[in-house]
Amino acid sequence: MTLPLQHPALSAADPELAALIGAEEQLQADTLRLIPSENYVSRAVLEASGTVLQNKYSEGYPGRRYYEGQQNIDQIERLAIARAEALFGVEHANVQPYSGSPANLAVYLAFAEPGDIVMGMALPMGGHLTHGWGVSATGKWFRGVQYGVRQDTGLIDFDEVRELALKERPKIIFCGGTALPRTIDFPAFAEIARESGAVLVADVAHIAGLIAGGAHPSPVPHADVISTTTHKTLRGPRGAILMSREEHAKAIDKAVFPGLQGGPHNQTTAAIAVALHEASQPSFRTYAQSVVANAKALADELLARGFDLVSGGTDNHLILMDLTPKDVPGKVAAKALDRAGIVVNYNTVPYDPRKPFDPSGVRIGTPSLTSRGLGTEHMAAVADWIDRGVSAAGAGDEDALATIRAEVAELMAQYPAPGLTA
Ligand SMILES: *Cc1c(COP(=O)(O)O)cnc(C)c1O
Repeated sequence: MTLPLQHPALSAADPELAALIGAEEQLQADTLRLIPSENYVSRAVLEASGTVLQNKYSEGYPGRRYYEGQQNIDQIERLAIARAEALFGVEHANVQPYSGSPANLAVYLAFAEPGDIVMGMALPMGGHLTHGWGVSATGKWFRGVQYGVRQDTGLIDFDEVRELALKERPKIIFCGGTALPRTIDFPAFAEIARESGAVLVADVAHIAGLIAGGAHPSPVPHADVISTTTHKTLRGPRGAILMSREEHAKAIDKAVFPGLQGGPHNQTTAAIAVALHEASQPSFRTYAQSVVANAKALADELLARGFDLVSGGTDNHLILMDLTPKDVPGKVAAKALDRAGIVVNYNTVPYDPRKPFDPSGVRIGTPSLTSRGLGTEHMAAVADWIDRGVSAAGAGDEDALATIRAEVAELMAQYPAPGLTA
């Protein structure tokens, strides 16, 4: 591996900051990164995001800007839009939202008025803050009504969703979330949205790469609007895309600009275009299938070691473990695993008796390790490290954690991370 990467100008101008970035590169190289919303972007995506496109102001849309000098920027944004429309098979794409949360806020601006009822999955059940949860602007400025999963199955109860939608008549229904290990039934949500007269928004931030790679069903043509980040399984820069049929194009574009944002981040637009190009290659289909195969294999290995998985397993890239039977709180486990070189996040599980800042669960996923080339044959080792790490967390055995850390680094060294090799 050719670490450390060279950043000559940065090292000369600001050695303190350069050293911190170097340390982060080393951390990302040496550790087993299991956070399901993270990934490794390619060197090409990194290069596109660090360009002179930073220097431009481009308020407006291609051909309709408030600034001159947009000859190249217009072509870059048009390319990103065309690639998004082709990859996902949609009539309209807006690539300007700064990230997933502002993208969702733009959806509210396009389809609802303050005080209106909106519906989404509750955060502690696996939904996202921006789906109407109370502490979010979306829950303060709108009246959020929330659905969940059944306690016995860990699955969405569509009778409950339908009943709630017909009773509350929300303007918008969000489906999708941040801790959902199972396939999202877009046709079922579309039927409920139609019956209740709501706009259906499929927030596919976590699974966009799986959809692009054919490893999860597409929300097209079921959802009215598709919202996604570009930096999770899609493996692009930090950003977002809003997609829809032509009938909603104007409302969405107006909501993003001038409704919510100023100038687009052109360097991000360019990097999104690169990521979409990469995601349209046959190798990305293989990647998406491998992410799911790895997650299923890892889930099986964890179940075999006595772990309790919400919903009993996974259909996608994500696994939610309830550590209650192991008698180790999620946060204690997550912090111990971090010391063992395994990066995860603690997470609430549905009906969690513990508090959100000290919950029962740990959330893991396979997008990053799959980007490094790990396959199903490695998942027994990964499960073993997790199992030993959680046991060591319970026993306070720091030596065991240090041993795992060394074993992890040894395997990772054989699988260089994209973006971190020159
Ligand atoms: C990550 C995520 C978001 C928000 O994205 P940010 O870029 O962090 O603002 C929104 N919705 C879902 C379902 C997500 O997983």
